[in-house]
Amino acid sequence: MPAATSKDYYQILGVSEGADAAEIKKAYRKLAKQYHPDANRNDPRAAERFKEVGEAYGVLSSPEKRKQYDQMRRMGPLGGFGGRPGSGFGGGEGIRFSTEDLGDLGGLGDLFSSIFDFGRKRRPRTGPERGGDLEYTVEVPFEVAARGGSIALNVPVTEDCANCGGSGAAPGTRMITCVECSGSGTVSFGQGGFAVNRPCPACYGRGQIPAEPCPACAGTGQVRQERQIRLKVPSGVDTGTKMRLTGQGPRGQAGGTAGDLVITFQVKPHRFFQRKGLDVHVTVPLNIAQAALGSKIRVRTVEGKKVSLKVPPGTQSGTRFRIAGQGIEKGGARGDQYVQVKITVPEKLTEEEERLMKQFADAAELKY
Ligand SMILES: [Zn+2]
Ligand SMILES: [Zn+2]
Repeated sequence: MPAATSKDYYQILGVSEGADAAEIKKAYRKLAKQYHPDANRNDPRAAERFKEVGEAYGVLSSPEKRKQYDQMRRMGPLGGFGGRPGSGFGGGEGIRFSTEDLGDLGGLGDLFSSIFDFGRKRRPRTGPERGGDLEYTVEVPFEVAARGGSIALNVPVTEDCANCGGSGAAPGTRMITCVECSGSGTVSFGQGGFAVNRPCPACYGRGQIPAEPCPACAGTGQVRQERQIRLKVPSGVDTGTKMRLTGQGPRGQAGGTAGDLVITFQVKPHRFFQRKGLDVHVTVPLNIAQAALGSKIRVRTVEGKKVSLKVPPGTQSGTRFRIAGQGIEKGGARGDQYVQVKITVPEKLTEEEERLMKQFADAAELKY
């Protein structure tokens, strides 16, 4: 394993130091696909590159880690952060991905989580470690967000591979001592008087590697599966609202307690209703007679009720009416519903209508 003292994450991803999040993500996705081990079975260097790319993305995609990394690049002549212990970038901390980032990469997420979580999960410390938190964005229908309700959710969970019992070795084969770390499970690197121990990437910190990797989990010992949970959505959640489900996240290693599942809601748009805070806005068509003479119209509320709204004579297109207390309820507070009328001109008239319109026109001409 070459020392990772002066890795240039920008160079690895082929982006400039000023690259924005979208550029970084794009570059990462392209490279991750290119070097994915599945596509490069006979090229061990691809796996190496793949890890590097994942590591670079793990840092550059997190605004916080990227900031620290940039600071360190500026500070040290060595460039990389390998030489600074306690910087927060050691393997021990682990880098978490949001499932969003990896959504359309298929199985890549498994591999990454095993690569980046190994330090935290595999290395024995003073006691069993708590699992990490899993962040998850959930789309929720407009009405469910407005009124409350429940939705089914498939949550990815990492579990010991059933095929190999978590050892990573193909059933019937044995484990051999890792040559990279001579069985210690850690590798050290550093320059200028600093040395940092990191979990050995070749054996995921276990000190041993399978003589033949388990085909089901590619030797990682873990697989990712989906678990369905029913999520109760309180009324009034909006896009960006977060909800923490304690103990519903990834389970800890060696009996450690499970982490949390952190849900971020994303409210789907609605055909009629628009939402501004707790207020609901709709646009309702009105014909010219209704607008000119005044009328009573029926308006649907977000709760599914129909309320009647009095439109006074002479109402202009674009006029907005407020129906108090028919907005979204949240924690005892309640918004209003706003109805904007849009006056529509008939595209086709019946003979009768045309006759009457002409009468109207004549009368109007007489007046003016
Ligand atoms: Zn396995
Ligand atoms: Zn090793």
